[in-house]
Amino acid sequence: MGMAVSDKRMTLDDIQNFEGKYPKQLWYLFLSEMWERFAFYGMRGMLTIFMVEQLKLSEKDANLKYGAIQAFIYTMAFVGGLFADKLLGFRKSIFWGGILMIIGSFTLAVSPKDLYYIGISFTIVGTGFFKPNISTIVGGLYKTGDPRRDAGFGLFYSGINIGAFLGGWLCINAANNYSWNVAFSLAGIGMVIGLGIFIFTRHTLGPIGFSPLVGKTEPKKIRLYDVMVYAGSLLVIPFILLLISNSSLTDMFMYIVGPVAFLYIVYEMFKYSGAERRKLAAALIFILFSIIFWAFFEQAGGSLSLFARYNLNHKVLGITLDPNEVNNSANSIFVILFSPLVGLIWLALSKRKLEPNTIIKFGLGFLFLSAAFYVFYFTRFFADKNGMTSLDIFTLAYLVITFGELCLSPIGLSLMTKLAPKPLHGMMMGMWFLASAYGQYAAGLLGAGMSSPNDHATLMDKLISYTDGYKLLSIYALIAGVVMIVLSPVIKKLMHEVH
Ligand code: GLN
Repeated sequence: MGMAVSDKRMTLDDIQNFEGKYPKQLWYLFLSEMWERFAFYGMRGMLTIFMVEQLKLSEKDANLKYGAIQAFIYTMAFVGGLFADKLLGFRKSIFWGGILMIIGSFTLAVSPKDLYYIGISFTIVGTGFFKPNISTIVGGLYKTGDPRRDAGFGLFYSGINIGAFLGGWLCINAANNYSWNVAFSLAGIGMVIGLGIFIFTRHTLGPIGFSPLVGKTEPKKIRLYDVMVYAGSLLVIPFILLLISNSSLTDMFMYIVGPVAFLYIVYEMFKYSGAERRKLAAALIFILFSIIFWAFFEQAGGSLSLFARYNLNHKVLGITLDPNEVNNSANSIFVILFSPLVGLIWLALSKRKLEPNTIIKFGLGFLFLSAAFYVFYFTRFFADKNGMTSLDIFTLAYLVITFGELCLSPIGLSLMTKLAPKPLHGMMMGMWFLASAYGQYAAGLLGAGMSSPNDHATLMDKLISYTDGYKLLSIYALIAGVVMIVLSPVIKKLMHEVH
């Protein structure tokens, strides 16, 4: 209790002047986000199979719908970030998002078949309020220029992946061994724990995350605005419901939302001048590049899972494993294992003043991505005459792609909190995730383009068709990495000493 009182009096300086590698609040946010990701990835891992097996959708439709759901989730992150900046603040946004996600999961748990789209719609809107804003709070724990920030996001990212791994694995297991109701309940319980941890530890956040209106607007008015946002977000749910139950609307939605968000940011940028505006321009360049990254990376949920299903043997280092399980979990496991290491490498390099700047890290991310797709391509040289190839090599490609992800994804989160002026933190974090929405969307199109042209394709035809695609992706990723590195002097200027 004494602790809580002294925590309450904590000022921003007390928090940001922490000693050691990580602020203690980071561990609480880590745990809360870990459980949120448990719920999120648990649900994500069930969606496609549930739609095929229970809702009797064709594989093609299920894939399209899966892509649309993912895209809507990450699009809502932009909206969630924006409202946090302007009205709710990060804390209330996380709270509200968590509640909606809990309602979503338990709705699915009660009657997965009948209430499927309603449950998913709650989850989409809830994740939009939760996910970007908890990441932004992490950024708030650090002072401008603190070299420990990237390592902190690295640790946070491990939490994300522990949750992703456990959720993805346990929920589908529960669905297979018990029932879909139990599986969706597990996701709901994960979310209750995640939100609970946030609620019980938020007093340690001092002044971080309150509504931007506090002190400027009467409390009564603030409450009115809060209620309006809550009510507005509930009203969006039927609209999302309509969109996900009608795939043809997805394209239209994607054509409109991105450009509108982009124009809105340009409009906001013009309220700033000089260094601040240029830093926002740099952030937008990183965001645009990240779309390419995610479009390739997210083959994981699409074409790579089909490749794993049809073309891979079942052995990793002599141990028998299902290639799809490897496809779904190798990345998370590698992040958990290597994220702390990468964080420590950045920290050690920064002590010696050798840490590569963010642009070079991003460039490296693309080079790893390129190498990884080359390895995916290379699996074809290990194939037998039936078109079955090596799960070992495939797993190696996941190791390489994970290093690429670690050079880009946690750094990107960190970067948004460095480049955006404080009143736009939430929106820019949302924009970072909006790039993932477009990445997901493009990933589906790329995957569809790579799949074999006809249903009678042999395994060998499939192998050639997918690996040809992976070779192309490897070349494009290489080009993107090189362009990034070549552009680095220009971007560096825009970033004004932020690195
Ligand atoms: N895997 C990470 C997460 O769930 C990154 C997701 C993304 O930005 N596309 O947070």
